[in-house]
Amino acid sequence: MNGVTKKKPSRRFIAGASCPSCAKIDTTYIDLRHKLEFRVCIRCEFEERRMESVSPKPLRFQPD
Ligand SMILES: [Zn+2]
Repeated sequence: MNGVTKKKPSRRFIAGASCPSCAKIDTTYIDLRHKLEFRVCIRCEFEERRMESVSPKPLRFQPD
């Protein structure tokens, strides 16, 4: 058995982070939807899309 492919919950709470809407601490978590990260608060309706994860662009050398 290898526990590497163990399924993790998509909710990742942000320790010490405060909600910009209700100002509560430790109420926001990261929700993964369609490969996008959303920051969601469990205390209010706050929801915000986080920065898109940078995808590595392949280097292209153009012959001159
Ligand atoms: Zn909130």
